[in-house]
Amino acid sequence: MHWVSWNVALGALDKGGLGIGSLRASNLALMYKWIWRIALNPNAKWATIIKLIHGPATGIADLSPRQKGKVGNGRIVPFWLDEWCGNGTLASRYPRLFHLEVNPACLVAERRWKLADDGVFSVSVSRVAIDDMLLPSSATATRWFEYVPRKTNIFLWRLAIDRLPTRLKLSQKGLDIEDIGCASCHHGIEDADHVFFRCPIAIDIWRRIYIWINMDRPIPLFLSWQELILWVDNLQDASEVKKKIMVIFATSVWTIWKLRNSIIFGPSPIRKCGLFDFICDMSFNWYCNRGRKSIYLNVWLLKPL
Ligand SMILES: [Zn+2]
Repeated sequence: MHWVSWNVALGALDKGGLGIGSLRASNLALMYKWIWRIALNPNAKWATIIKLIHGPATGIADLSPRQKGKVGNGRIVPFWLDEWCGNGTLASRYPRLFHLEVNPACLVAERRWKLADDGVFSVSVSRVAIDDMLLPSSATATRWFEYVPRKTNIFLWRLAIDRLPTRLKLSQKGLDIEDIGCASCHHGIEDADHVFFRCPIAIDIWRRIYIWINMDRPIPLFLSWQELILWVDNLQDASEVKKKIMVIFATSVWTIWKLRNSIIFGPSPIRKCGLFDFICDMSFNWYCNRGRKSIYLNVWLLKPL
């Protein structure tokens, strides 16, 4: 069962994807790199060989200026309408491309490579630009938490876009689910907000977490992952404190989901009395190992922030 379109996952983090990048964009960017190199060195031996192999119709334009100094900074010479490179104007040599031009009188400087400040072609920059054009884009950027493992970050991404296989979601996908109620408390429909924030078992875990991290202000009982993220974002605390809070909250959510799965799929449910200790240990491991921090476990257990 597909929960998220592959094209969405391929997209950049700031476009709501997972930043994987598409093979199509990589392939195109690598091919453009060859075009760029041949355009800069049209008379190089290797360029001549490629032209001989593929014939004169390689689609590669010779963009080296005909007379040294004619183009200058490119702010005077028209790109399409002046014979500044090769034989004839670019408009006469590439009429179909010229037909697509929105500004036929544009200057050479306006059609230079602009994706990098230094004006030099880059495969990585091109790949991202191509993906930005071809892949779907969301107005909400993906949150990627530094001290949290990749698999948990992907899990949190699915939670943020409501693509976790809760009983309600499975039912909405057309599966014949006998009971869409919460398997933990048997009160309420099992959607993501219930599992992680409204279920009495989850609320009990959050209360213990709040007491443990012992902040100098009350923490609200969140009703959704979005509310939780917004609250952390708006904290005035140091960045490192916020990262610690997110490690603990991410571990809590991850653990609640593991509990839910163990109740539904067995063979034996995780013991609820051990959940809090499990969250303390796992968040400590993630913080120390992934954050490369040196801190004693007893300090973490007593005062994590
Ligand atoms: Zn419940």
